Amino acid sequence: MTYVVALDVGGTSMKGGLVTRGGEVTVLAGRPTGREHGPDAVVEAVRAYVGEIADLGRSRYGVELAGVGLAVPGIVTASTAVYSANIGWRDVPARLGHDVRTGGLAESVFGAGRDVADFLFLPIGTGIAGAVVLRGEPYGGARGWGGEIGHAPVWPAGEKCACGQIGCLETYASASAVARRFTERSGATVTAKEVVERAVAGDPVAADVFGEAIEALAIALASYVLVLDPALIVIGGGLAEAGAALFEPLRERLAGRLAFREPPPVRPAALGPRAGMLGAALLGWQAAGDDDAGTDWSLDVLRGGSVS
Ligand SMILES: [Zn+2]
Repeated sequence: MTYVVALDVGGTSMKGGLVTRGGEVTVLAGRPTGREHGPDAVVEAVRAYVGEIADLGRSRYGVELAGVGLAVPGIVTASTAVYSANIGWRDVPARLGHDVRTGGLAESVFGAGRDVADFLFLPIGTGIAGAVVLRGEPYGGARGWGGEIGHAPVWPAGEKCACGQIGCLETYASASAVARRFTERSGATVTAKEVVERAVAGDPVAADVFGEAIEALAIALASYVLVLDPALIVIGGGLAEAGAALFEPLRERLAGRLAFREPPPVRPAALGPRAGMLGAALLGWQAAGDDDAGTDWSLDVLRGGSVS
């Protein structure tokens, strides 16, 4: 049985596992990236973690790993290719991808987007990221910024965003924005999940804040739909856990902003926080020369055992 090492490298922590060609997943406990000690420390932490996972694979399957896939934050540029080179597995093929697009790849191959070629994957958490999937492939655009719908302006005279622009979608509709905007109006410090619960229970301030988040999403998604005509919109991240409280009014408001055409279906993501790591496994298999890996994996891939 051959396997790849898959790693989802976040800002402060990373999670990884080994994934066989048949889609059997073993997930290891996460590790800190050591970012506070500088880039060399991160490279060393990644190298050590990959080595540890590879050792586990060797003892379990009796063969060497076939490849390594890494999902990394931020835009994938020449400098991240250098970063990849610094990690330096000379004898093992490795491939690197942008974290959100790598998650979008996993949703495309065996997740919520498996039955369509063109969709938008929109994880909503601390911020709002986006992966545009066209013809089954995540599309990064000319400079790697493709899909950054979180910084699409929705209210030009609105609130200032951390990115420097005014009125970005993310300023109103990320999970942290929902929590922050409720706190600003009510004085109560709660999570986005609690704001949604209060909104559902009839709290008028919570309903206003959450309603504005949904309206902002509908505005940004309407533009997206008109430009790219996706078959589907997939929403992931923490805010997607709001379930019907999010999806029902969002579908309604999106339809309301598309006068002459039907909106595409809006559905929750299938892979949750493992999307990046599972996408990294696909990159590892691609690096090993197997572009068809994952097409026959079922969502049972999620039921892999954990090893600490
Ligand atoms: Zn912004």
